[in-house]
Amino acid sequence: MSIATQLASVQGTIPEGVELIAVSKTHPVEAIREAYDAGHRAFGENRVQEFLEKVGDLPKDVQWHLIGHLQRNKVKMVVGRVALIHSVDSPRLLEAIDREAQAKGVCQDILLQAHVAQEQTKFGFAPQELKEYLQSFSSEEHPGIRIRGLMGMATFTFDEQQVRTEFRQLKQLFDWLTGTGLLPTDQRSYLSMGMSGDYHLAIDEGSTMVRVGSAIFGTRQ
Ligand SMILES: *Cc1c(COP(=O)(O)O)cnc(C)c1O
Repeated sequence: MSIATQLASVQGTIPEGVELIAVSKTHPVEAIREAYDAGHRAFGENRVQEFLEKVGDLPKDVQWHLIGHLQRNKVKMVVGRVALIHSVDSPRLLEAIDREAQAKGVCQDILLQAHVAQEQTKFGFAPQELKEYLQSFSSEEHPGIRIRGLMGMATFTFDEQQVRTEFRQLKQLFDWLTGTGLLPTDQRSYLSMGMSGDYHLAIDEGSTMVRVGSAIFGTRQ
């Protein structure tokens, strides 16, 4: 099946109000171009180097999303060039993004990555850590960034119930943080969760942004 066909079939399963980020990592510019020509604009990359190699070869109105772990020494290369950084997983990274954005005179939209999965390897703030961090956070002191919501991942497992439970925990955390005003709601806020294998479950559990790669572009090498 062509990329345009697969894109259309994924789009067909996504309800209104949920944004689709087409995750193009490891796929060539031609593949992204095919989805672009079909009308899609939001693409996700997980590595800065790969993003930099692709960005110049694609139209300016592509809306890039950085979804992978970001090292502080690479912050310079993405701030102001991506629509949304999903993977802000530590206070130090947030501070680095804020400083760089202020230096560039821009305001960078970010998501805070929350960690609910069982796996040790997943980056992000534990729920309690996130609550405490946001309770002491001052947006006036961080004019370079705008926190637009949360991103999270479920454990990589075939246990559907576990995946569902983890998405539910993320949604509850998101609702609590927006309900208490710790996450600002003056603009639309996002809950980024769900990938090719689990985005249906994520949407069921309240996701508003899904990051789908292989279901659109095919399996990665
Ligand atoms: C690769 C990746 C995705 C997409 O994964 P697929 O299974 O190909 O849909 C989503 N989110 C993150 C953070 C990723 O690294």
